[in-house]
Amino acid sequence: MPDASVRAKLHRLAGNLRWFWHAPTRQLLDELAAEVPAQLATNGAMRHRRPPAQVINDLDDATIDRLTADPAFTPRLDALIAGLAEDLEDGAWYAERCAAGQADADARPVAYLSAEFALADALATYSGGLGVLAGDHLRSASELGLPLVAVGLAYRDGYFRQTIDEHGQQHAHAARNDWADLPVTPVLDDLGERISVEVADGDGSLRVVAWQAQVGRIPLILLDTDIQDNAEHHRTITHQLYGGDDDMRVRQEIVLGIGGVRMLAAMGIDPATYHLNEGHAAFAGLERLRLHREAGLELDAALDAVRAELRFTTHTPVPAGHDTFHYDLVRHHLGALPEALQLSFEGLWDLATGPGEPAWNQTVLALKLSATTNGVARLHGAVSRGMFAYLWPERPADEVPIDHITNGVHPSSWVGPEVAALLDTHVDGWRRRWDAARFEAVRDLPADALWEAHTAARHRLIAAVQARLDAQAARAHGIADGAGLDPDALTIGFARRFATYKRGTLIARDVDRLASILASEDRPVQLLIAGKAHPRDQDGQALIRELVHLSRDGRLAGRLVVVEGYDLALGGLLTAGSDVWLNTPLRPMEASGTSGMKAAMNGVLNVSVLDGWWDEAVTDLAPLADVGIGWVIGDAHQRDDREAQDAFDADHLYRVLADQVVPTFHDRDEHGLPQRWIAMMRDSIRLCSPAFSSHRMVADYAARYGLIR
Ligand SMILES: *Cc1c(COP(=O)(O)O)cnc(C)c1O
Repeated sequence: MPDASVRAKLHRLAGNLRWFWHAPTRQLLDELAAEVPAQLATNGAMRHRRPPAQVINDLDDATIDRLTADPAFTPRLDALIAGLAEDLEDGAWYAERCAAGQADADARPVAYLSAEFALADALATYSGGLGVLAGDHLRSASELGLPLVAVGLAYRDGYFRQTIDEHGQQHAHAARNDWADLPVTPVLDDLGERISVEVADGDGSLRVVAWQAQVGRIPLILLDTDIQDNAEHHRTITHQLYGGDDDMRVRQEIVLGIGGVRMLAAMGIDPATYHLNEGHAAFAGLERLRLHREAGLELDAALDAVRAELRFTTHTPVPAGHDTFHYDLVRHHLGALPEALQLSFEGLWDLATGPGEPAWNQTVLALKLSATTNGVARLHGAVSRGMFAYLWPERPADEVPIDHITNGVHPSSWVGPEVAALLDTHVDGWRRRWDAARFEAVRDLPADALWEAHTAARHRLIAAVQARLDAQAARAHGIADGAGLDPDALTIGFARRFATYKRGTLIARDVDRLASILASEDRPVQLLIAGKAHPRDQDGQALIRELVHLSRDGRLAGRLVVVEGYDLALGGLLTAGSDVWLNTPLRPMEASGTSGMKAAMNGVLNVSVLDGWWDEAVTDLAPLADVGIGWVIGDAHQRDDREAQDAFDADHLYRVLADQVVPTFHDRDEHGLPQRWIAMMRDSIRLCSPAFSSHRMVADYAARYGLIR
C-alpha cells in the first residue's frame, strides 16, 4: 500500500490552479497523466484535458508505489509543495505598495464578475479571448497580491469541443464539467452546510449554490443552479456556457449579476468595487442599486453610490457582441424589480437604453451605472466613444466618458518553457515585474541561445501538430496528415475564432500567389491554422471548409494545414513555436486581440493589420526598436468598400511576406543564424513584454479600483 500522504500531496498541487503557470508542477501532473491507461480517460479526452484530480484518483496503488520507489520523487514532490506555499505567501507588488503607504493592507476586496474564465483545458468554463483575458487577470492579481475575488458560473457543459471531418465540416461535442472531479470545493457555511442564496426570474424563485476554485491566491466563486431544490427550468440555467436563446441568456445573467452579489454577501465578503468584465454581469449594478435604495438613499444618491463602486470593461465594437433583450422578455424576468427599486418599469428601462433605443442593452446599463468605463486598447477606446456617443448627445465625442486600459497577457502562462528558461538566466524578475528598464537585458540574449530556444519551441509545436493531425486523419480519412510539415520551415501561425470580420481566409484570396510563397523548394514556408466557428455561425463554418479544401490543393504542397480543437494548450504551442503570428481582422473590429501579445513575448514576430493592440504597439514601441518588432499589413486608412479593403490588404500581405518576411527569415550567416530576424525577436520580447503584460494591465486596474493611491 502506498503512503496515503503522497496522493494527498498530489491533490494539494492539483487543487490550486496555479499549476497552469508553474511549469515544474505542470510537468509533474503531465507525467502522471501519461501513467493513466488510455481506456480510463473520460470520453477519450486528450490527456491535457483530463482533470488532474481525476488523474490522481485513477492512478493505481502499484503505479504510486513505483513512482515513490524512485528516491528523487518524494523530494521533488515536497519541493513543489513548499514552493506553492511560498509562492502564496511571497511578498508581492501589492504588499510593497502597502509598505510604501500607497495602499491599505486591509482594503476591502474587488469583486471581478465574468461569464467566462479560462483557467485550464480541464475546466470548460471559457469560449475564447474574453475567458483567456479573465484567466490572465486572475493569474496576475494572484502574483501581484491584490485583494480580489472572482465570480462566474459553474457550467455543466462548457463551450463545445471541435472536430473537423474530411469534408471540412466542423462538429461540436459537449465539453462536460464534472464538478465533483474538478479542482473545486463546495462553498459551505460554518456548520458545513452549502451556502445558498435566492434569486428570482419571471418564472419564480430559485436557489443558487457555489463552488470555489483557487487560482493562486485568488478565490473564484462559480455559481450553480443545478440542484434538486430547483425546478427543472431553473436547474438548466447553468447547464451551458452561452447556451440557449435570449430567455436563457437573461436568466444566466440574473444569476451571475444578482446571484453573484448576494453570494458574496452570504459568504461574508463585502467588496468595495465590482468590476464587470463585459456587459454580461450588468445586473450586479441593479442589485447594488436595490441595496442602496433599501438602505434609504434617494434615487440619485443611490445611483451615485452604485457608480462609485462599479467599474466596467467593454470588449468589442461588433454589435452582436452586446447583449440586447426584447422589452417583453425583460418585463417578464425583471418585472418585480422596479418595486424593490422604488421605480417605475419605464424608469428602469431608461437605465438600459439610450433615447429611442428599441431594446434593453446590457452595455448601456453597465455604462450608465459605472463611474468609469474602459475599452481594451487605445483605438478601441476611441471606437467605443463613437459607438456610445448617442448616450451623451450634449457632449462632443471625445468627452464621452469611456477611456481604455489595454489588455495584457500573463508572462509565466504564455512564454514557452524554452524561451522562459533563457529569460530566467538573463532577465532578473521578468516573471513578476513589468518595468521597461528591466527588459533592456533582453538586448544581451545571445543570438545562438535565443535561436536554439525558439527552434526547440518550433520543433515541439510541429511534433504536437503532427500528432494531432495524425489522429485527425485516422478518423477523417482523406484529411491531410502532418507528413508535409517541416520542423525547420518558416512557420506562420493563425489561430482565432472564425468570425467573418477576422477574415480567416484573406490569405487565401489568391491561391496562386499564396502558393508562390508557401511551395518554394529552397525557402519553405508553412501555414498552421486553427480555430472554432460558433455552431450557429454558418458563414464561419464555411470558412473552415474552404481552408480544409485548400489544405488538399496540390499547388500548396501540403504546406497549409487546419488543426482541429483550438484550446489553451494549442494556443500556447502556436504562440510560442510559430515564427510569425498572422492577424488579418477588418480594422477597427478587433478590440484588442491577445494572442499576438503572447507571440510577441516569445519573440514570434507579428504580421498584422493595424488594429487593436498592434496599432498601439506600432505607434508606441516600433520607434524604440533597433530593427523592428514585426510587420504591418495595409495601413490605418479604412475604406468604405469591403471588397476594396480586402483586395488592398491581401495584396499588401502577399508583398510583405514575399519581399520582407521570407527573405529575412532565410537570410543566414555562416553559422546558419538569421541575425536580422533574431534582432527583431529581441526587439519584440524587450519592448512588448513589459507593455503588454497582464501585470501592467492589472496594476492599471488597481489604480482604477482605487486600491492604489
Ligand atoms: C489567447 C487566446 C485567445 C485570444 O486570442 P485573440 O488574439 O483575441 O484571438 C483565444 N483562444 C485561445 C485558446 C487563446 O489562447
